[in-house]
Amino acid sequence: MAKITLDNLAHSYFPNPTGEADFALKELNHDWTDGEAYALLGASGCGKTTLLNIISGLLIPSQGRILFNDVDVTASSTTDRNIAQVFQFPVVYDTMTVRDNLAFPLRNRGADAGYIAARVQEIAAMIGLEETLDRKARGLTADAKQKISLGRGMVREDVNALLFDEPLTVIDPHMKWELRTQLKQLHQKFGHTMIYVTHDQTEALTFANKVVVMHDGRVVQIGTPQELFERPEHTFVGYFIGSPGMNLIPADVDGKTAKVHGASLSLARAYGALSGKVELGVRPEFVSLTEDEGLPVKVRRVEDVGRHKIVRADLFGSEINIVAGEDQSISPDMTRVAFDPARVNVYVDDWLTEGEAA
Ligand code: ATP
Repeated sequence: MAKITLDNLAHSYFPNPTGEADFALKELNHDWTDGEAYALLGASGCGKTTLLNIISGLLIPSQGRILFNDVDVTASSTTDRNIAQVFQFPVVYDTMTVRDNLAFPLRNRGADAGYIAARVQEIAAMIGLEETLDRKARGLTADAKQKISLGRGMVREDVNALLFDEPLTVIDPHMKWELRTQLKQLHQKFGHTMIYVTHDQTEALTFANKVVVMHDGRVVQIGTPQELFERPEHTFVGYFIGSPGMNLIPADVDGKTAKVHGASLSLARAYGALSGKVELGVRPEFVSLTEDEGLPVKVRRVEDVGRHKIVRADLFGSEINIVAGEDQSISPDMTRVAFDPARVNVYVDDWLTEGEAA
C-alpha cells in the first residue's frame, strides 16, 4: 500500500494550452494517506477520471509529478506502479470460469496454488460469488460480471492502491447498496489505499472515509463525510453535498451580528475585522420554522419525502429550504425562521471564514 503524493499536478488535453480554461486539472498539491478509502466526487467533467488515469499511469500529466511512498512514478507504467483498477464496465474473460477469472491476477504473479485457492474462496464469499465459482463467465448477468471485475481488483493483497472508476454503474439499483457496503467491509478488512470515482454523493459518503470534492479541475475540499456536512470550506461543497444543499444567504456582518436585509441575526463567533458582504451558509437541517422568532419568511410549498418534510419558503425574495420532522405540522402562523448560531458558516468570496471564538 502506498501514500500517494500529487506534486504541482496539472493536465491539459490540448497540445498548446493557452489559458486556465484549457486545463482539465489545475495545480493539484496533496498527500493522500496510506491505507485510506478516498472517493473522488464531483459533477460530470470536473476532472475525476483524468486524475484517476494519471494516478494509474494510463495518462501522463502535462505538468507536475506523482509519487508513491515518496518515489517519483510519473514516468512508470501501470504495471510498474503495481495498482489494480476496476472500470465502469466489466472486464472479464468470458471463456474462463469465475474461479479462474478471480485467480488470474494471482497466477500472473506466480502465487502459490494453495494460497490462490484460499484467497479466491475468501474474496468470492465476501462479494457473493461463491455459488457461481465453477460457471463460465459468459452466461452470467452484467451484475455478476461486474462483481467478478471487483473481485479481480481486490484479490491481490500486495497492490499499492486499488482504483475504482464508477464501478457500480452497471449494477442493478437494489444491489448497489449491498455492494457498496461489501466494498467498505473489504477496505476495513484489508486496509488497501482505495480511490473511488463517482458523481453520486450517497455512494461517496457511504464508501469513503475521506471524500475529495472536485470542481472545475480543482480539489476544493478533502474531508470526512461529517466535515463536509458540518464545515464545508467552500460554498460549492455546501451546495453540492446534501439534499437539498446548504442555504446561502447574503448578509452584512458586524462583530457577532449579521444583518440580512436589515434584520439581525446572532452568530456564535465575532467577525469584527470583516467588512462588506458575506454569505451565511446554513444547512436546511439546522433551520427551524417558528411563529415568533427569527427572520420573516413565507412558506411556498411543503414536500413530504417520507422520512422528513422539505419546506420551501421565500426569504426576502430568495428561496430558503428547511428540513422539518415527518411529524411536524406546518401551520400558516409559521412565518419566521431561526438558525442555531453554532451551525451558521460565514463565507467571504466563497471561502469559509473563521471568526474569533466566543
Ligand atoms: P465524468 O463524470 O463525465 O466522467 P469527469 O469528472 O471524470 O467526468 P473527465 O472525464 O476527467 O471528468 O474530464 C475533464 C475534462 O477533460 C472535461 O472537460 C472533458 O471534456 C475533458 N476531456 C476528458 N477526456 C478528454 C480527451 N480524451 N480529450 C479531450 N478532452 C478530454
